[in-house]
Amino acid sequence: MQHIAQILVNIGTRSINKAFSYIIPVHLDYVGVGWRVLVPFGNRKLEGFIIGVIADEHAEQADLKPILDILDNDIWFDEHMMNTARWISEYYVCNLVDAMRLFIPGKSGVKSITTYRINEMVDRQAATAALAAKSADYCQVFMYIAKFPAINSARLEKQFGSAVLKIIRYLVRKQVVFVDAAIKKTASHLYKNSVRLAVTHEEATAFINGSSRKPAQCRLLTYLMTHEQLTYEDFEKNGFSSDTAKKLIQTGMVILEKTQVIRDSYANVGKVASQVLLTMEQQQALQAIVPKMQAREYHSFLLHGITGSGKTQVYIEAVAVARQNNRQAIVLVPEIALTSQIVGRFKARFGDDVVVMHSKLSTGERYDAWQRLRTGQAGIVIGARSAIFAPLSELGIIIMDEEHEFTYKQEETPRYHTRQVALTRARLSGGVVVMGSATPAVETYYEAQQQQHTLLSMAKRIADAPLPEVTLVDMREELRQKRRSVISLPLQELLAETIANGQQAIILLNRRGYATFVMCRECGHIVRCKHCDISLVYHAVGNILRCHYCQSIEATPDTCPACSSRYIRFFGTGTQKLEESLVKLFPTIRIVRMDQDTTGGKMAYDRILEDFAQGQYDVLLGTQMVAKGHDVKNVTAVGIIAADSILNLPDFRAAERVFALLTQAAGRAGRGDKPGKVVVQTYNPEHYAVQAGSEHDYQAFYQTEIGYRQDLCYPPFGQILKLTIQADQESKARAQADIIIKELKAMLENPHQIEVIGPFPAPITKVKDIFRMNIIIKTSNLAPVKLYIIAMGLTKRLDVIIDVEPISIM
Ligand code: ADP
Ligand code: ZN
Ligand code: ZN
Repeated sequence: MQHIAQILVNIGTRSINKAFSYIIPVHLDYVGVGWRVLVPFGNRKLEGFIIGVIADEHAEQADLKPILDILDNDIWFDEHMMNTARWISEYYVCNLVDAMRLFIPGKSGVKSITTYRINEMVDRQAATAALAAKSADYCQVFMYIAKFPAINSARLEKQFGSAVLKIIRYLVRKQVVFVDAAIKKTASHLYKNSVRLAVTHEEATAFINGSSRKPAQCRLLTYLMTHEQLTYEDFEKNGFSSDTAKKLIQTGMVILEKTQVIRDSYANVGKVASQVLLTMEQQQALQAIVPKMQAREYHSFLLHGITGSGKTQVYIEAVAVARQNNRQAIVLVPEIALTSQIVGRFKARFGDDVVVMHSKLSTGERYDAWQRLRTGQAGIVIGARSAIFAPLSELGIIIMDEEHEFTYKQEETPRYHTRQVALTRARLSGGVVVMGSATPAVETYYEAQQQQHTLLSMAKRIADAPLPEVTLVDMREELRQKRRSVISLPLQELLAETIANGQQAIILLNRRGYATFVMCRECGHIVRCKHCDISLVYHAVGNILRCHYCQSIEATPDTCPACSSRYIRFFGTGTQKLEESLVKLFPTIRIVRMDQDTTGGKMAYDRILEDFAQGQYDVLLGTQMVAKGHDVKNVTAVGIIAADSILNLPDFRAAERVFALLTQAAGRAGRGDKPGKVVVQTYNPEHYAVQAGSEHDYQAFYQTEIGYRQDLCYPPFGQILKLTIQADQESKARAQADIIIKELKAMLENPHQIEVIGPFPAPITKVKDIFRMNIIIKTSNLAPVKLYIIAMGLTKRLDVIIDVEPISIM
C-alpha cells in the first residue's frame, strides 16, 4: 500500500490553485498533513505543504513522483493552524497556499537555484561537431558549460545574453546538458562553531608526544585539555587558526560543534520594572478573563478603557496567568516600532520568555524566533499583525492592543483583518481574546453590545488623574480675526505656557486627506458633488475637481461658492512647514520631528520617542504616529492641527477615524501628576465626532455613528466587498470593470438585495503606472457573493484584487 500526499506547492502563482499528488517514500512514512516538504516540480525543487494523505494501491502505476525530503524536523501546521488557514482562504476568498504562506517565517522558506552541467555520458567531440553543424552559437555555449562542473543561468546569460536560454533548453532536451536544482535555505539558523576534545586525555597526550612536527595541532590539543571548548570566534585571540582545527577534526582528535545562536535585536531594549498593585477596575477585568482562560474555552473580551486607565497592566497580568498554566500568548500591537514601551514592560516582567516580532527582523531572526516558540522555549510573542500566525501549539490568550487601528488590516493579498483571524484562531484552539482600546471600532463595540464579546470597562485613569481639558479652536474664526498662521492663537498661548513651565508638548499634523479636497478657509465650505454629496477630489492635472462616485467633473473655483471669499484652495501643509512656523514663533524651542521623512532604520522611532521622553526636546512634532500609545509623564500639552481633514474623505469610516485620532492624541497629555491641556484646531467644530472627541465621550460618538451606519447599511449592518480592477491604461481598466459590473449586477442585484456600486476610480487612480477602478458590493450577507465571485473566475485573475471587508471604500 502506498501513501499519497496532496501537496500545495509554494509558488506565488495565482492561477495554480490546486494540490498535486506525490508518493510518500517509505523512509518518510511519518509525515502527514501540516508538514513542509521538498518536492520536484517541473525541473525545480520547491517547498510544498501537505494538506491531505490518502492510501492508494495503484500509486505506482500512476507514475507519481516521490517527496524528496522534509524541511522541518516536525510538523509545522498543527490542526488548529491548518484550520485557521482554511478559514482565511474561504473567508477572504484567497488561495489556500497564500493563506498557509502567512504561517511560515520567510513566506518562501526555500529557494532553488538552477544549475547546468554536461552529461558525462555524452561523447564531447561528437556532440561539439553535431552542434557546430547546427550553429556556432550552440557549439560555443556547450563548450563553455563544459568548462565548469556546474554553472547557473545568470552566469550564462551574462556571458551570452538572454538568447542563451533558448539554446540551453535545446541542449537539455537533447540530453547533452543536465539541470540540477540546488536548494538554498533562505532562512536558516545562525550557528556558532566550536571545537572540543573528542578523545581521552591519555590519547591526546600520546598524540602530542608522537607529533612533534605538528606544533600548532599540539598546542590546540593542549589548550582543549584544559578548556572545555574553543569557539571559532576566539581562535585568533588565542593564536590558533581554523586550518589547524580542520586537521585535528580529520584525525578525529577533536569534534566540531555547532550551537545555535538566537538572534534578538530587541535584547537590549530598556527595561522597566512593573511591580504594581492593581486598581479595582484592573482586578475586575482580570477576574473576568482568568476563569475563561483556565476553563480552556473560547471567549472574547472587549476591554474598553480610557487612555491611561492601565490596560497594559491588565494584559501583563492575564499573560502571566496563562504562563502559569503553561499556555502561550500572542500580544498584538498596531505597529511594533511605535510600541517599544509595551515591549519593555513585557520584557521586564517575562524576560527571555518574550519573543519580539519586528517587520525589520531578518529572515534568519524571524526563523529563530518562531523556532523558539514552536519548541516551547519561549511562551510569549509580541508583534504587529503577522504575529497572529506564530506557531504556538499551546495558545491560551491573544491580546490585541488598540484593536481599532487600521494597521491590523493587511493591504495585500490575502487581505485579512487581524481581529477576525485572532477570533477564529482562538475559537479553533480554545483560547481567549482580549481586545483593548480607548476608542473601539464601531463594529467591535456593536458586537459587544450584541453579546458576542464580553464588555469590560475601565473608566478611570490611574491614580484618578483627570483627562485633559480640550479647547476647540474654530479656524474660520481665526481667519476672520485676520490670523493666518497655521498655529492658532490659543495653541500659541498653550505652547508658551508649557515651555515656560519646563513641560513638553506634542503637536500632531494630520496629513491624511490633505490636498485632496478644496475648502474655503473663511467659511469652511467644502466643494461637494451636486449629485452624490461627497467631497470632490482635487486633481492637479488640469486643475479640476472630480467626483469619485459619479465621475462628474467641475472646474476648481477661484472664489468660494458659499461666501465669495478668495481664500478657497486645496488644502495642504507639511510637517516641515509647520516646524518653520513654530521656530519663527519660538526661536529657542527644541523641536524633534517624526514622520516618514525623518525616520528610518530599525530603531529610529524608538530613539526619537526615547530622547523625547528623556526631556531632550520641548516639542514632538509629527503625523498620526505621534499619537500612538506612548506614555511620557512630562507631556502636558497636545496640539492638533486640522484634526478633521479626514472628515472630507469619501469614506464611511471617516468620522470614526477623527474621533479616535482626537481621543488618542489628547490621551497623551497629562499622564503624570500634572494635568494636561489640548488644543484642537478645526473647521468643523459642530461635527459630532469632533464634539464627542473633545469631551472624551465614546458613548455620544457611538450612538450617533451607529445610527448613520444603520441608515446607510454600512458595517456592522451590511458587509462590503471591494473589487479593484487594474490595467496599464485607464480605458482598459474601465472596460474590464464595466464587463465585471454588468455581470455582477445582472446576477446579484435583483433577487438578493445586493447593492453593486461603481465602477469608480481609486482615489490614487494611478499607482506605479497602473490604473485602478473600484467596484463596491454591499449586502447583509456576503457568503453567496463570494461564491459567485469564485464562479466568475475572478480569484484567478491577476488584474483583480478582492478585498473582503475593506478598511475603506476608496
Ligand atoms: P493604557 O494602556 O490604558 O493607556 P497604561 O497601562 O499604559 O495605560 O497605564 C498608564 C500608566 O499607569 C503607566 O505608566 C503604568 O505603568 C501605570 N500603571 C498601570 N497600572 C497601574 C497600577 N495598578 N498602579 C500604579 N500605576 C499603574
Ligand atoms: Zn457625484
Ligand atoms: Zn466660503
